Amino acid sequence: MKVLSIFGVTKSGKTTVLENIIGELRKRGYSVASVKDIHFETFAIDTPGTNTDRHKQAGSQLVTARGLNETDILFPHRLSIDEILGFYHHDFVLLEGVDDYNVPKIITAHHRQEVDERLDDSVFAISGVLAEHMEEYRALPVIHALNQTAALVDLIEEKVPRLLPDFPPECCSACGLSCRQLLAAILQSKRRRCDCVLDRAQVTLTVGGRDIAMVPFVQQVLKNTLLGLISTLDGYKEHAQITITMGGEKRCTNE
Ligand code: SF4
Repeated sequence: MKVLSIFGVTKSGKTTVLENIIGELRKRGYSVASVKDIHFETFAIDTPGTNTDRHKQAGSQLVTARGLNETDILFPHRLSIDEILGFYHHDFVLLEGVDDYNVPKIITAHHRQEVDERLDDSVFAISGVLAEHMEEYRALPVIHALNQTAALVDLIEEKVPRLLPDFPPECCSACGLSCRQLLAAILQSKRRRCDCVLDRAQVTLTVGGRDIAMVPFVQQVLKNTLLGLISTLDGYKEHAQITITMGGEKRCTNE
C-alpha cells in the first residue's frame, strides 16, 4: 500500500489537489482511499440528540450508523494514523492535512513563505494556489492540480514508495539510516524501498488481522525463543517454514 499526504494552510487548495489526484489514479485502474484529518476541536459528524449520539452518550464504545447508501462506523475517540491505515487495503491512500507521518508529502500554499515554513525532506512536490504563479521552487516541481493532473500523478507513481515503518532511530538503523532518512533518500533517488530490511523479514506477526512491524532485534528474539521450544518437538525440521496461530480463547458457556 502506498500512502502520501497533501498538507498546507486552509484554503490553499488541499482538497482540490486531492480530488484531482484521486480521479486520475482511479482512471489509471488503482484502488484509492483517503483520510481527512480535521483539526477543529469541536468536530463530530454525529450531532447531539441523534439516536447514534444517544448510543454514544450511553457508553457504547463503537457505534455504527447503517444507512441504505452508506455505513458510518463512529469511534468515540481519535485514532492514530497507524490504527486508521489498519482498515485500508488499497493501492493508494491519500491523507489530507497530515504533516507528522512518515510518508511523502505535497505542500499546498498561496505563497513561498507558507512553503518555507513547512518544507522538509519528505516533501516531493508543491501544488495548490501557488501553482498559478510558478513552476519550480527550491528545486521542487510546482504542479497545477487542475491543468497538470496527469503530470502530478506521473510524479506520484514515480516517487511514492510502499509505506515505510516509522521507528525511532534508537530502535532500528539496519539500513544505515533512520526510517525518516530512508524515505528522504528514496525521494532523492539515492536509495531504494527494498533497502529497508523489514522487507526481508524472516519472522512476521499478525494480530487480529493487522501486521505488526518488528525491528530486526525483536524478530531475532522472537525467532530464538520460539525455535528454542519448537526444535525439541518431534517433527521439527531445520529451515522449514513454521506457522503458529493463536486464536481468541473460546469459553464453553451458555451465553
Ligand atoms: S531498516 Fe527499515 S525499519 Fe530499520 S531504520 Fe531502515 S527503514 Fe526503518
